[in-house]
Amino acid sequence: MGVPFLDLKAQYASIKGDIDAAIAGVVESCGFIGGETVRRFERNFAAYSGAKFGVGSCSGTSALHLALLGAGVKRGDEVITACNTFIATTEAIMHAGAKPVLVDVDEETQLIDPAKVEAAVTPRTRAIIPVHLYGQPADMDAINDIARRKNLKVIADAAQSHGSSIAGDRKKTLGFTTAFSFYPGKNLGAYGDAGLVATDDEEVAITMRALGDHGSKEKYHHLYEGWNYRLDAIQAAVLDVKLKHLDQWTERRRAHAARYDEAFAGSAVQPIKAVPNRTHVYHLYVVRVADRDATMARLKEKGIATGIHYPLPLHLQPAYAHLGLKQGAFPIAEKVVARIVSLPMYAEMTDAMVDEVAAATIEAASARVG
Ligand SMILES: *Cc1c(COP(=O)(O)O)cnc(C)c1O
Repeated sequence: MGVPFLDLKAQYASIKGDIDAAIAGVVESCGFIGGETVRRFERNFAAYSGAKFGVGSCSGTSALHLALLGAGVKRGDEVITACNTFIATTEAIMHAGAKPVLVDVDEETQLIDPAKVEAAVTPRTRAIIPVHLYGQPADMDAINDIARRKNLKVIADAAQSHGSSIAGDRKKTLGFTTAFSFYPGKNLGAYGDAGLVATDDEEVAITMRALGDHGSKEKYHHLYEGWNYRLDAIQAAVLDVKLKHLDQWTERRRAHAARYDEAFAGSAVQPIKAVPNRTHVYHLYVVRVADRDATMARLKEKGIATGIHYPLPLHLQPAYAHLGLKQGAFPIAEKVVARIVSLPMYAEMTDAMVDEVAAATIEAASARVG
């Protein structure tokens, strides 16, 4: 049969009427930038996430940049984050003029290791960016505790974790500022690039909005230079329609993950650990297998699409040669990266598809090489 990695067409088919009407509404109004459609989505998404204020942006990367600036990160500061995140996290740190200080992760969860964060703090450290990788919240209690003791700001990278929670509380996953991505493949995806930065601090929200709109609070009056990071109204309209379905889609993802977990128990396929008391929203369902490349090749033969998130930790990327970190700097991330594979995961999958992928993965992972 075969199973795709993600099926955005199936999702569109399930909500086509509302999406088409929302897009047509913006086109007919010709209010493409800003306006009530954007404000409404910002309010709705902030409320959904447990934040007081939301500022839409044109991508998750620009949201992260605004989140850093809103948290007061300046040229020469150091910002600590995980070495296994997507490059946007560290790009945003560089865009703010700061230096990314990478640390290793916990082997079982692949989330930033608070003990490594604590060890990396220097007098120049200004902030920590926990990444809620794959949709699972990082250990925010431990990170907030370090931040309090060392007087640092916490900036959450929630690009993969819309709707996740800790002890049932979404607010507990947020930082002083929190960046979300609505890249089409994310759990809440736009029909193009989009993002949002959330905070409880009204002054900071106003500043981030101005920074993302050419440094202006009032048209043609520029308090400082900024960027054009605005969220456009067509994306906001699409996102507002989809937000109403997000909890139901998340429930489906969690049910698929539970079904995968059950199938893999006692097999050669080892899922990344989901920590009790944290609501993992399974942007990605990632497992570890002994021979990852052979497993992926066998799945491909059966028409099952897989991915690797991410194939090379940031410290080994050419873009970060300037950090001077070599192979061996982060042994846990380096070890796990050779074994991880992401399996198909999206709300519209059927139970039969999950079963097909699970059976094929167990077979592929246990097959003897050669
Ligand atoms: C997707 C993603 C981003 C960047 O979001 P864009 O909308 O693609 O700019 C940042 N961090 C993480 C962890 C991501 O997965």
